[in-house]
Amino acid sequence: MPTNKYAFFRGEIRPIAEAKISVMTSAFNYGTAVFEGIRAFWNAEEKELFVFRMAEHYARFLRSCRILFIDLPYGVEDLCAITLELVRREGFREDVYIRPIAFKASEEIGVRLHNLDSDVTIFALPFKAYLPEGGIRATVSSWRRVEDNAIPARAKITGAYVNSALAKTEAYLAGFDEAIVLNEDGQVAEGSAENLFLVRDGVLITPPATANILEGITRDTVITLAKDLAIPVVERPVDRTELYVASEVFLTGTAAGLSPVVEIEGRKVGTGTPGPIFTCLHELYEGVVRGKEPKYRAWCTPVYSAPAS
Ligand code: PMP
Repeated sequence: MPTNKYAFFRGEIRPIAEAKISVMTSAFNYGTAVFEGIRAFWNAEEKELFVFRMAEHYARFLRSCRILFIDLPYGVEDLCAITLELVRREGFREDVYIRPIAFKASEEIGVRLHNLDSDVTIFALPFKAYLPEGGIRATVSSWRRVEDNAIPARAKITGAYVNSALAKTEAYLAGFDEAIVLNEDGQVAEGSAENLFLVRDGVLITPPATANILEGITRDTVITLAKDLAIPVVERPVDRTELYVASEVFLTGTAAGLSPVVEIEGRKVGTGTPGPIFTCLHELYEGVVRGKEPKYRAWCTPVYSAPAS
């Protein structure tokens, strides 16, 4: 049973039981909604909850809205303020996942984006690890990533997650933890809900924003941290077989954090244990998200010590 008590729904923070949509809602019928996944991390020493890169998440949210003609009466600052108020009311003292969804709210038949009302809802709930810790086994999916000219992957569109779900369940049924999805060019795009990095000859490599990936915020965080650590980073197309010869492969995402891939389709990645570049970035990342690294503290918004809105 969920332990969260509230949701932002129809312009107000209400009891979660009141946050219900009709079966006739356009977005429920056609997948015409966009969403975000944001995390807040509990810092036990400071007794504070920090929301990580909240403004960047809401900026991406509004870019997704723009692609689907979803007009909201809120800007990034409004959405941040609502989120802080919601999480504060919940009173969480543990790691949290925050889920905003903007959707076509009209209750009528007809698939389109124009001349429909839009609405936004936000809820938050306690959250633990998304992928198994210590190293995952991945397979290359038989499903291909959605194309920019079909359903743009750079927008976080609910309907597009059928693509992720097909890949994830195929991997699960084959006995793997996660799927790596290629794009229509046959090159590596990303995981089912994570971006992908690999290491070759000490260089950190990740597919570019034009490879039909979600432009991940954890991906951006890792690129920034790597550059600050003087680890060379290259964004370039990645071949499938580079996964087999890389010394390290890892996935990144808000839910997944930094997650090492130790085996791909029966082949060990490197030595079959998390590699040194992953380990170094992972340790730093875990401190950064909990507000423990002064240099990156601006990415962390405190929930409880912030002025009430
Ligand atoms: N790719 C996909 C398809 C995703 O769903 C996610 C999770 N939002 C990511 C990548 C990682 O993005 P982020 O680091 O912004 O969570």
